[in-house]
Amino acid sequence: MSGLDYLAEELEQLKREGRYRLPAVWESGSDVWMELNGRRVLQLSSNNYLGFANHPDLKRAAADAVYRYGAGSGSVRTIAGTLKIHDELERELAAFKGTEAALVFQSGFTTNLGVFSTLLQDGDVVISDELNHASIIDGIRLSKAARKIYRHKDMNALEDVLRASGQYRKRFIVTDGVFSMDGDIAPLPAIVELAERYDAIVCVDDAHASGVLGRNGKGSTDHFNLHGRVHIQIGTLSKAIGVVGGYAAGSQALKEVLIHKARPFLFSTSHPPSVAASCLEAIRVLRSSSELVERMWSHAHGFRKALIQAGFDTGASETPIIPIIIGDAAATMHFSSRLLEEGVFAQGIVFPTVAADKGRIRLIITAAHSQDDLDFALEALKKVGRETGLIS
Ligand code: PMP
Repeated sequence: MSGLDYLAEELEQLKREGRYRLPAVWESGSDVWMELNGRRVLQLSSNNYLGFANHPDLKRAAADAVYRYGAGSGSVRTIAGTLKIHDELERELAAFKGTEAALVFQSGFTTNLGVFSTLLQDGDVVISDELNHASIIDGIRLSKAARKIYRHKDMNALEDVLRASGQYRKRFIVTDGVFSMDGDIAPLPAIVELAERYDAIVCVDDAHASGVLGRNGKGSTDHFNLHGRVHIQIGTLSKAIGVVGGYAAGSQALKEVLIHKARPFLFSTSHPPSVAASCLEAIRVLRSSSELVERMWSHAHGFRKALIQAGFDTGASETPIIPIIIGDAAATMHFSSRLLEEGVFAQGIVFPTVAADKGRIRLIITAAHSQDDLDFALEALKKVGRETGLIS
């Protein structure tokens, strides 16, 4: 073997494990109905919670920004790449989140890399829910802090760790606000109380909670009325906001330290102005009306109820993320491909992303789906469910 020939063996290994899968290539833009291999299929796996990826106001804002400022920003933020529109977006995000300041990164993933690699130092401990997102795990790995993982949402386990962490310089607790594979909500009030009792810092990653939980989608801190008690609210601009990017919201000092030290922020070119403009427009739409958020919740509640009535296991879901638990990888992938034949796209998620016996399709119900779309999806799910013996 020479050069990169060994990669062929790695691919064979993935195939043997049933994990080889290249992404679907969509022939139309992000929407409720999308074209795949020349067919229109109903999208049930997109994070486009509010339909913003295709919202006319966001598209107009992006196009205007291209004509006004150009296609790219030309530089990293700290040299010549901070345009007025970037600054405006950060002010708007801070107001939306109820914090002093916010700092935008290129993605939610790089936000977590930047925040945790910067703030966690030798002598600190970070205490993390076992189901936290990969980007939190990787951000933590980039630091020299001690790591403790607690059982999913288990507040006794969290308290045990806190009780035994007095010797560390600082204690950070980090949790997803809404967990991406199960659609359940973190017990943030209990986490905040423990943090206050044990002098810890709380960071919540609201990637799936921003635009979803709280008044007008302000996130989990607002949902639980914990303003001023959560130190760092992380969010993404790529899911409900419909565009791309991430941010950390908190104090002005947090923002300024990240500006000076967060490597993904310092060493990577800032967003094109069109991205900042369409995100800004999304926040404005969200702040002006709660209609889309309410519609999404009403769709999600109705759909989950119908699935449970039909006999499906929707796990711990309590948000528009609704898993249908199927079991092993082969059964899960079969279910997903049969659904596609019926005109519904719902991605199968299998080990190692979830436990080996908890393979699932994960649905995301959005404000943009119509009742007809949801009825169509439900019929297809029931048909494939009965055919595969998942429901009777
Ligand atoms: N954090 C969480 C909890 C997520 O679910 C995701 C998205 N998969 C991210 C961060 C990364 O966000 P982005 O897609 O904007 O990089």
